[in-house]
Amino acid sequence: MAAAPDVRTAGAIRAAIAAGDLSAVEVCRGCLDRIDGDDGHLNAMTVVLREEALARAAEVDAHRREWHDLPLLGVPITVKDVICTRGQPTTAASRILRGFRPSYDATVVTRLRAAGAVIVGKTNCDEFAMGSSTEHSAYGPTRNPWAPDRTPGGSSGGAAAAVAARFAPVSIASDTGGSVRQPAAFCGVVGLKPTYGRVSRYGLLAFGSSLDQIGPLTLTVADAAAVLAVIAGPDPFDATSAGAPATALADAPCGHARGLRIGVPRRLLEASEAGLDPEVRAAFETALKAIGDAGAEIVDATLPHAAYSVPAYYLVAPAEASSNLARYDGVRYGVRAGTAEEVGDGAAGLARMYERTRHGGFGAEVKRRIMLGTYALSAGYYDAYYRKAQQVRSLIRDDYDRAFADAGIDVVATPTTPTPAFRLGERAEDPLAMYLGDVFTVSANLTGLPAVSLPAGRTAAGLPVGFQLTGRPFDEATLFRVGDVLERAAPWWQEAPPRTGATNPGAGVG
Ligand code: GLN
Repeated sequence: MAAAPDVRTAGAIRAAIAAGDLSAVEVCRGCLDRIDGDDGHLNAMTVVLREEALARAAEVDAHRREWHDLPLLGVPITVKDVICTRGQPTTAASRILRGFRPSYDATVVTRLRAAGAVIVGKTNCDEFAMGSSTEHSAYGPTRNPWAPDRTPGGSSGGAAAAVAARFAPVSIASDTGGSVRQPAAFCGVVGLKPTYGRVSRYGLLAFGSSLDQIGPLTLTVADAAAVLAVIAGPDPFDATSAGAPATALADAPCGHARGLRIGVPRRLLEASEAGLDPEVRAAFETALKAIGDAGAEIVDATLPHAAYSVPAYYLVAPAEASSNLARYDGVRYGVRAGTAEEVGDGAAGLARMYERTRHGGFGAEVKRRIMLGTYALSAGYYDAYYRKAQQVRSLIRDDYDRAFADAGIDVVATPTTPTPAFRLGERAEDPLAMYLGDVFTVSANLTGLPAVSLPAGRTAAGLPVGFQLTGRPFDEATLFRVGDVLERAAPWWQEAPPRTGATNPGAGVG
């Protein structure tokens, strides 16, 4: 079989398989080998679906001619463990869902399978996607492939590490407050949070239902566009999914940025609360210049309320979480603690069973969120906290609407995160420090706007830096257009982290 030139991206893999230059089985084996080699060390995977993946790849090979035009023909992908895969473990990295195997696929999974993708496994994350480091996981933390003593970010740390370590060229994950973009930034890959409603949330274990979106992590912008085109679109199973056409998403790149206005919220970047690292700032300015050199006009953006996004988010998200997580009570899903003999009968016994199940099933961060959220929603505090946060949320959205409408800005540019990847353990005991790192990412969820993190270089110590673009509603195409310009100017994705080569002792829900 002829050696294919560069088969690292989803696009190149698809093309090589469609042309018969590579077999899907061969590609799948390559991924499984890399997982076997490195995941014992990285801990990015919660489960590897070896037999299923190889069987599906063989099926792709058998149907290569009929399925020739499928957009993800034979492309290996990994799926975050908060997204339902039929008959396969789906635990949200929580003890409370140990052993849970959903009876259905999430809509995104159904669409990816129908597009020819091969699912090779599920990825590690913070429990119920609550966190920014993947340290709050029942499987233990994931390591950053670029720096093993550092976090890959979170909550989709396993997804980002899996793409960076070339386990598979595509990961699918959820973003409620930056969980696709922040780990993408820390691991040097592309991470997209689509517009709220662009992608169906059916089959996503809900965290904050008004904030949650599913999006891809990939090596290149073209791959993110191709995956979005597959997973986007209305779904009768999610009433918030929108019918906006996903046409021409993959055709958006045109090699220049002429006619586009890029807004930079200078005051927000300068604010001391942002705590911007000098190397992150330098990488941001370099990326901005590349986009300016490609013809875009760089202007100031005024987003006076964006500085309040973290407090608003950390009221709204826990409030919604406290409601969504009420369903994990030991009755319908996963683990139940306390037999009838242990807890006694009747209502009191049932209450004791709930208590034991939730006490032992949830980790400390999830309990903290449930308590914060319950408090913010309680009578007497609702107006002061939850309602106020929703009002701030409207003000932030108004800021963006004005920037787009009055100032004619097409996309807003910021760093994705104030700092590069921090050390494992560094913020684990300090939730506030962990939350403050989300200052640039949570606005896109509060407003519903699409946002992407793009690789924008590395620090002197070799840590990746992310560059974030936020666009108009349903205008992911412009994000891809600008992202493509940046990627051409500085193709950071072509550099891979060193392989660790450790052997895999396997992982289990601990
Ligand atoms: N880091 C944020 C949080 O802890 C965002 C998480 C997410 O997007 N799922 O809530």
